Amino acid sequence: MKLTLILPSVGKIEGEKYIRAWQMEPLPLAQLAALTPDDVTISFFDDRMESIDYDHPADLVAISVETYTARRAYQIASEFRRRGIPIVMGGFHASLCPDEVSDYADAVVVGEAEGVWEDVIADFKNGQLKERYQKAINFGEYDIIPDRSIYEGKNYLKITLLEAGRGCKFRCEFCSIHNVFQQRHTHRKITSIVNEIRKLKNPKRLLFFVDDNICSDKEYAKELFRALVPLNIKWVGQADITMVRDEELMVIMRKSGCQGILIGMESLDKEVLKKMNKAFNASRLSPAEAIKKIHSFGLRLYLTFLFGYGNDSPEYAEKVLRFCIDNKIFMVGFNHLTPFPGTELYNTLEAENRLLFEKWWLSEDYRYGMIPFETPQDKTMIEEQSKYLRKSFYSLRSILYRMSNWINIKGWMMLNIYFIINLMLRKDTGQRMRFPLGDPNQTIICRKSKV
Ligand code: SF4
Repeated sequence: MKLTLILPSVGKIEGEKYIRAWQMEPLPLAQLAALTPDDVTISFFDDRMESIDYDHPADLVAISVETYTARRAYQIASEFRRRGIPIVMGGFHASLCPDEVSDYADAVVVGEAEGVWEDVIADFKNGQLKERYQKAINFGEYDIIPDRSIYEGKNYLKITLLEAGRGCKFRCEFCSIHNVFQQRHTHRKITSIVNEIRKLKNPKRLLFFVDDNICSDKEYAKELFRALVPLNIKWVGQADITMVRDEELMVIMRKSGCQGILIGMESLDKEVLKKMNKAFNASRLSPAEAIKKIHSFGLRLYLTFLFGYGNDSPEYAEKVLRFCIDNKIFMVGFNHLTPFPGTELYNTLEAENRLLFEKWWLSEDYRYGMIPFETPQDKTMIEEQSKYLRKSFYSLRSILYRMSNWINIKGWMMLNIYFIINLMLRKDTGQRMRFPLGDPNQTIICRKSKV
């Protein structure tokens, strides 16, 4: 049996080959490859960086779908459908909108692939592919070592992605993680993570734990970090700011080789944080105090801010910019609010009749970077503001100034990464803004009707 795995891009720019040349390894597909029985021959196309050969021999095509890539995924599925090749889809969007995804796939995997993917393959071989595969989330320990051989020949960023668990205990209004993981976590066996790292081809590369919130379960996190200490690795990950309340955690985190952490700061306004259901961000220490403390443990910071919640005057934007530069943050994401399906935010906007598109992620009229809902504020102003903030934060002057935080540039590896990432983001600011999702030249064939 021949299986083709596909990771769709967000979209294509007319006249240009790809939207972005630098890409991270797609870990979920390497995990899927690991779950696939040995007698299946796997091919893999990463639509973000190469052309898909639709005529490559395949018995079954598996496409991983995220909300931003849904339109493109359905276009790709349509091309294979024209050739009579069945499609199975999974990924986070398939869990958020299984009925929609069903319209474009012969089978949909809802939730985690572990425990059902083997059935998909067996059923396909027996000519009995079902329309939907779903199993309750396994909140016990799981064990999966990704098959990274699918990355061979592709020029990904030299950062190794791995996973210790999924889910997060919080319930931020705009976040869809808790829809699937019910404010709980799944954990990988720590021995399995250690074994995986020991067997990596390039263990000296920077490792990136892609967990939604690696410190969500602090006791598990401590146990994991203790096990990482002897491995002498360097890693980064994502967490929430409450990690600063636990000094023991911070110490062991640093000892385990943590170089930096992504934290969703979202807003400097307590009222806005409350609206987001993220008041815990400012509940004990002020943002500046929390940052100082994290820096004092030698950890770099990647902060993200969200605009579009109501307090987005030009003065507030300047305040955020100054805050990020003055606190010499390693890198910052300035994003505006996007309602993802299944989130409380989406449901509220829908109930208030404020959504501008029935499904913005499928609309031909939606453009990347647009605010797809009615807000009392000037939408163009908010969109332009994020662009302005990125441009200013990644100006050469700011990049050089933020180097005066010695933590940002300590050690050759992180000094290199500081320059590479900051200069790449400087080049990338606004690059994708206003581009349509999907390929404007490709059509979508729904399983039931044409759209
Ligand atoms: S802390 Fe982060 S991962 Fe957790 S619910 Fe909030 S936004 Fe989502």
